[in-house]
Amino acid sequence: MGRLDNKVAIITGGASGIGERMVELFSQEGATVIAADINEAALEKVSEKENVVGMKLNVASDEDWKAFAKEVNDRFGEIDILVNNAGISSEKPYEEIDLDDWQKMLSINGFGPFAGIKHVAPYMAAQHKGSIVNISSYTAQIGQGFNHYSASKGAVRALSKAAATTFGRQGVRVNTLFPGIIETPMTDALSTSKELLGRLIQATPLQRLGKPEDIANAALFLASDESSYITGSELVIDGGFSA
Ligand code: NAD
Repeated sequence: MGRLDNKVAIITGGASGIGERMVELFSQEGATVIAADINEAALEKVSEKENVVGMKLNVASDEDWKAFAKEVNDRFGEIDILVNNAGISSEKPYEEIDLDDWQKMLSINGFGPFAGIKHVAPYMAAQHKGSIVNISSYTAQIGQGFNHYSASKGAVRALSKAAATTFGRQGVRVNTLFPGIIETPMTDALSTSKELLGRLIQATPLQRLGKPEDIANAALFLASDESSYITGSELVIDGGFSA
């Protein structure tokens, strides 16, 4: 018996890194998983897995989300789990960030999860059950110089709290994960500087970087019925880096 038997789960950004690992784990635990991503080529590979359906979605588009949520609900009969994981990152100094940079970052990382909740939570509310897991970042908790990226992840933190209070009475739970530095394509550049890598590991009490499964395991718990009394909660998964 799996921990997500008979559940329908949407994972955005499911074609790479943390999202891809969640897709694998959730499907192994019995869920039907919709891996939603803007990268169609990468989606093809993920869709080969058992119980996984790849669907194109641009999380920054309100129209895309509306059509996507309806299609998933029509096709699978329900939506039990939404993981708002898709995101982009950038580390630019203040003076180089212009309005276009800001809007792109906030559209994907901020509006994306907001629109996901806006279009998916009503289907969950109609069945009076559902779990939404939002992926923020440790940079929303401590200053780390990722200026507009941190701001976008702070937006995720705040909108999660607001959604937990808005949808709780309708049976929908909303929780947030705050990953530290996780080894994925997003952080590939780190491996080019052994010195920086060494310093980051040194500054981490558990003495290693995170792996996608560190986040996927926590998302699984929050997505499953094992966490049925948990909403509005925040879990930092960073090996103690921000402690
Ligand atoms: P990744 O780059 O490996 O994967 C991100 C996925 O999001 C990709 O498949 C990409 O195609 C997809 N995506 C990007 N823009 C999209 C859009 N507009 N619509 C739909 N899909 C889109 O990155 P990752 O490291 O797996 O990151 C996953 C999440 O975890 C992100 O929200 C990221 O900010 C967050 N996070 C990552 C780290 C880390 O160290 N890797 C740390 C903290 C938070």
